[in-house]
Amino acid sequence: MNKLGLVLAVAIGLGWSLNATAAERRNAPEGETPASGKAAAIVIDDFGNGMDGTEQMMNLPFPITVAVMPFLPTTEKDAEEAYYKGHEVIVHMPMEPFTGRKSWLGPGAVTCDLTDEQIRERVRAAIDNVPHAVGISNHMGSKATSSERVMENVLAVCRERGLYFLDSHTNYRSVVGKTARRMGVQSTDNQLFLDDVKDSALIRKQLQLFGKLVEEQGTGIAIGHVGTGGQKTAEAVKEAPQVMPGVRFLRMSEMLKMRGLEN
Ligand SMILES: [Zn+2]
Repeated sequence: MNKLGLVLAVAIGLGWSLNATAAERRNAPEGETPASGKAAAIVIDDFGNGMDGTEQMMNLPFPITVAVMPFLPTTEKDAEEAYYKGHEVIVHMPMEPFTGRKSWLGPGAVTCDLTDEQIRERVRAAIDNVPHAVGISNHMGSKATSSERVMENVLAVCRERGLYFLDSHTNYRSVVGKTARRMGVQSTDNQLFLDDVKDSALIRKQLQLFGKLVEEQGTGIAIGHVGTGGQKTAEAVKEAPQVMPGVRFLRMSEMLKMRGLEN
């Protein structure tokens, strides 16, 4: 049994008390989400492949949104662990970029050469592969998110399954926002990448920038990553409550609800 298997076995062994704790953690902020006050949502991408920083992110002392890639060795484990630790789980859907190799996309990717039905089937299969998913975000996808036809099919499955779409915003020409509005699907944009450069000082600088953005706009959404350098991101993100005092950290669905209340 590997380490995570053991952790899960112990967790299951603890039974009700742990379940109650997880349920409480999951439910606590939701019931008290007010329409005012500053709030931030931090999304961490690229789970599912046993990447560096996975455990540190899982053990953060506040809720994050965990974006898990489908059909990978630790897809199911990561989604289950995130859920039981009170984080929100979404599918991190590999989608075609303008540049970069197709092999970087991972299995089951949405590419622009697929038919409408093939796209829908791939999105459905990915959702079925990631337990507890309540939303979808794009992994890469600069080309796919600029295609109205592709996004119509992806968003149609979101609507069918009641999932929201988070646009990672890898492309300023993305049509996600306007297509989602037209189709009546909940969607929002990432506003800031925390760790484009895997350097502790630069990640902390980005976190401060994020704090400033939330201060000015009232709410904010930022994305970080597990993977090479993921532990540096996790260490920095752990300090977010100190860097951003008075800001509440919400799961993405809570953020969508709060922003909905503002409109
Ligand atoms: Zn990604």
